[in-house]
Amino acid sequence: PPKPKFDLTRELNPQQRAVVEAPAAKILVLAGAGTGKTRTLTYRVARLVAGGCPPERIMLVTFTNRAAREMVSRVENLLGIDMRRSAAGTFHHVGNRILRRHGEALGLGSDFGILDPEDARDLMTSVIQELGMPVLTTKRFPNAKILIKIASQATGMLATVGSVVERRFLKFLDMLEPIKEVVANFAERKRRLNCVDFDDLLALWLELLRNPKHREIAERLRSGWQHLLVDEYQDINALQGALIDEMAQVHQSLTCVGDDAQSIYSFRGADFAQIHDFRIRHRDAQVLPLTINYRSTPEILALANRSIAVNRLQHPKQLQAVRPPGMLPALIPLRDTMQQAELVAQRVLELHHDQNLPLRKMAVLYRNHAHSLELQVELTRRGIPFAVRSGLRFFEQAHIKDVVAYLRARENPRDALAWLRLLRLWPGVGNRTAERVAGVLSGELDAHGQPDQPDLSAAGAATQAPAGATIPELLAREAEHARGRAKDALAKLAGLFEKLSDGAERSPGRAIRLIVADHYRDYADRTFTNADARKEDLDNLATFAERWPEAGEFLSELALVQGMTAENVVVGEEPDDKLVLSTIHQAKGLEWPIVFVLWLAEGRFPTAQSLRSASELEEERRLFYVAATRAADELYMLYPTIEEGRDGPSKLLRPSRFVAEIEHQPAVFERWEIEEVPRDD
Ligand code: ATP
Ligand code: MG
Repeated sequence: PPKPKFDLTRELNPQQRAVVEAPAAKILVLAGAGTGKTRTLTYRVARLVAGGCPPERIMLVTFTNRAAREMVSRVENLLGIDMRRSAAGTFHHVGNRILRRHGEALGLGSDFGILDPEDARDLMTSVIQELGMPVLTTKRFPNAKILIKIASQATGMLATVGSVVERRFLKFLDMLEPIKEVVANFAERKRRLNCVDFDDLLALWLELLRNPKHREIAERLRSGWQHLLVDEYQDINALQGALIDEMAQVHQSLTCVGDDAQSIYSFRGADFAQIHDFRIRHRDAQVLPLTINYRSTPEILALANRSIAVNRLQHPKQLQAVRPPGMLPALIPLRDTMQQAELVAQRVLELHHDQNLPLRKMAVLYRNHAHSLELQVELTRRGIPFAVRSGLRFFEQAHIKDVVAYLRARENPRDALAWLRLLRLWPGVGNRTAERVAGVLSGELDAHGQPDQPDLSAAGAATQAPAGATIPELLAREAEHARGRAKDALAKLAGLFEKLSDGAERSPGRAIRLIVADHYRDYADRTFTNADARKEDLDNLATFAERWPEAGEFLSELALVQGMTAENVVVGEEPDDKLVLSTIHQAKGLEWPIVFVLWLAEGRFPTAQSLRSASELEEERRLFYVAATRAADELYMLYPTIEEGRDGPSKLLRPSRFVAEIEHQPAVFERWEIEEVPRDD
């Protein structure tokens, strides 16, 4: 085993050490923000590996892949070894890895594609259209987005579609039968496309563990990983809880850390009953505390503690400050959102110039992305560099998805959605031709040699290709049958796929450059007014893709970062020093010396909708707790007092109850009166 280069007694306190040094067993660390949960989990991984457990037998599940990478690289530094063989990442990341290896048992090709939420919606729409039942086209029938939500919640809650509709979508109850039918068809369609969506990555993993048909694989999965460790355990759903419990059955080594006061994802099916019931599901579990907060000043902690104490459904926890006193948090009412943006910009510049604080040590947090728009304008106006923490926007852009569609089609020819997308980019190829050709290609190029029906249209059957035909051959045949500009386009496309099938072009980075040079550059010039910016994006995409030798791995990564969890994927140039803008949801687990929280006005944060239900309001308060506890040194809470009406009259806003309800003595914040923020034009 590698020799540890760390001295536990110096880097951890006694409570943390007790967790790190506990013998392999079931352990739950239920502790407040900033008490070192993530740090402790990292050291526990290091100690297990130093104690002789090979990295490939460690499974570390975190909220984002980026968080996992940071923890793993910390362990690598502590031990001086390569940890790449450990399974570290989000549930989806680990599920993907397991299904690539064992999905065959479920009828899934190892080259399966992963549908992002937009693809899934498109597929659901086409299922609805094709089923053609009259009820599906009535106004009252749930749309594709809602149907996916229903299906997804059923999966995540380990419940039936029927019970989800009964519990959460009551107004659709009279249409339960057709809903069930659509959902079932949707599942079947995904299988035919050799595609899975995000939920499948977890549901199929559980299927491997629970279906007696797969007992052998289940045994291998359960015994393969010796130690399981889970961060942010408060935000897992029933399905994820079941996965963890199943996986821990053989070795019984499970370390979960979390803070129920930071459970903020119930709107997506997370269920903090998982953390509250842990001891019921695992009667032999030890529950260990961490009570010292290393992150924040006592003033910031006092505010956070007083706020969260208002919640009734909260496990009371001790949180003790060790840092020296600092500044009292500030509540700053401003005239309007412009003034709010100006104050942030001004304060940021002061801290940056007068106190030499790098911009990246400051973050602006908000409830909704839209709350940051004025600020983005103001920062741009003043030339303050900033980064919006939601790198995924990058991958959602049309030009990125277009080029990626080529890779998807090459890697998984059954992916009819990818074919449709790329065929439509060609001049002369209309919807009908695209659907026919996509049907032929996805239907005949079944990677596993099983006869498969064309997925999108029966018309393709007219052009039967010889068994074992390649993509370029099939496209060339389609070109023969086509007329006019489509003929020309399909012939060129065949040529492009001929080049793409060359072994030298296997790597995703090279393939992307080829696709752009051969086709997409012209398309972009013809189509977009900002073609240059888009071509630059594609260049960045190619550089980003070069990190993966295999296109399949790259596509999985891409699909996963677009998924449920927001990742800060850096594409292109590494950002140097930039102010951080983030939603509170995406700031989970992170910390900054200076934190601004915007829009703390009643009806905005908490949202008007959350005021209708006690449990939603408590979740909003937890969100406020998460926001406040991200701050280490200084916390600024802002709100506009007047909201300009878009069409109608302006509205007066009151301060959020989250500050109003904790205003009693002794003061945990100070009100700043700002007359007018000067503009420095
Ligand atoms: P959150 O609830 O926000 O996820 P957490 O409980 O995971 O927080 P960490 O992020 O692990 O807490 O730690 C918070 C900060 O305190 C980090 O900067 C960490 O390095 C520091 N810290 C934790 N434990 C110690 C310690 N024993 N000595 C010094 N610093 C520590
Ligand atoms: Mg943490």
